[in-house]
Amino acid sequence: MLTYLEARDKIRSMVKQLPTERIPLAQALNRILAYPIFADRDYPPFNRAAMDGVAIRMEDWNNGIREFRIRTTIFAGMETPTTIATGECYKIMTGAACPIPADTIIRKEDLTFTPNGTALIRRESISRGQHLAQRGEDLKKNELAVTAPRVCDISLIGTLAALGIHQAPVYKMPTVGIVTTGNEVVDIQQQPEHFQIRNSNQHLLRALCEQWQLPIRSCQHVSDEPKALSAALKQATQQQLILINGGVSAGDADHVPQILRELGVEILFHKVSIKPGKPLLVGFLPEGKIIFALPGNPLSCFMTFKLFVEDYLHGCLGFTNERFQTSTLTIPRFKKSSLDEFFPVFRHAGEYGYTWKPHHGSGVITATVGCDGIGWHVHNKHVIAENDSIPVLSLHPFFNIIKPY
Ligand code: AMP
Ligand code: MG
Repeated sequence: MLTYLEARDKIRSMVKQLPTERIPLAQALNRILAYPIFADRDYPPFNRAAMDGVAIRMEDWNNGIREFRIRTTIFAGMETPTTIATGECYKIMTGAACPIPADTIIRKEDLTFTPNGTALIRRESISRGQHLAQRGEDLKKNELAVTAPRVCDISLIGTLAALGIHQAPVYKMPTVGIVTTGNEVVDIQQQPEHFQIRNSNQHLLRALCEQWQLPIRSCQHVSDEPKALSAALKQATQQQLILINGGVSAGDADHVPQILRELGVEILFHKVSIKPGKPLLVGFLPEGKIIFALPGNPLSCFMTFKLFVEDYLHGCLGFTNERFQTSTLTIPRFKKSSLDEFFPVFRHAGEYGYTWKPHHGSGVITATVGCDGIGWHVHNKHVIAENDSIPVLSLHPFFNIIKPY
């Protein structure tokens, strides 16, 4: 059986770069920017007044002039005048383009406007260029503004808009087909019999896909009956990323591995020495489609998506950073198995590190509620002592890849 890292590396070897597309910026939130963005012009594009006041020439101030004749008023959005005579100033508003011959702004608060159309400066000293954002001081035309790949998150959208990126170049996410399996599993609108359970994993998988902006093209539930299963799986393989849930362990009703083989799926591996999630199967079709058959227990489904499906997507998007961060576990944890164990971890406001809490196995439906990440109890370590460092994978899919620009 493969170890966690061996299984992860096998999946990484299947990673292929995704194609790109241009989409309206209004639809780009949480998509992944595929190309770097360069400045189309200087930013700011003109010398911009940062205060309401008057614009003067420093030379006049140095020559002792303190009272300036107001030539005209320049509002934001007005075209800039080009001349200014000795002893003249422009009344100017924040955001307006300051005429080049003027190089310094005096704030309104430091001025007296006289009835005969002049502005009197009431300050002992001023400095050249004050309250004036210089053209190109943020970015020069053609300068690298934003690196890629990068998540088009809230921190980026405004910047892309300012740079005129009305069509954002993003990676085209693979289409997804979801198949959940199990005779005991019923739709959540339905009142289950006492021997039935609700199809919670369908909703979990939908939500996980949504976080990655993956377009779900088909989503169905199917019984453990081989013919029905085969038809459903075949239909799902029309998509590029196929997520199957349940039916992948060693029980008599677990037909998924056999049916996938019959459909021509090449099995990359079946079973990994992890807990939860051991029965995981990953396969692919010759045309490069990838199939993740995730175990049916809710916690196993959650963990195997986070650990393997996300790792695959991360690679396809060109991210190379380590997804786990080193963090502190403030409560000790003991492990009997020789498997790599993964468990929900919790952060508490104002406290350092993560805690965790015991649960009764991977079928517990509340095990993840409120968790902030997944802790990794490495296979050869039996005890995590109080305040030991452990690798933690954030619940946020893009936690560690938002680099400074
Ligand atoms: P399986 O992997 O099919 O052997 O299922 C393992 C456990 O997960 C069983 O207790 C199932 O009832 C449960 N399970 C399977 N599919 C789902 C699902 N879609 N939603 C919630 N639980 C499920
Ligand atoms: Mg089942």
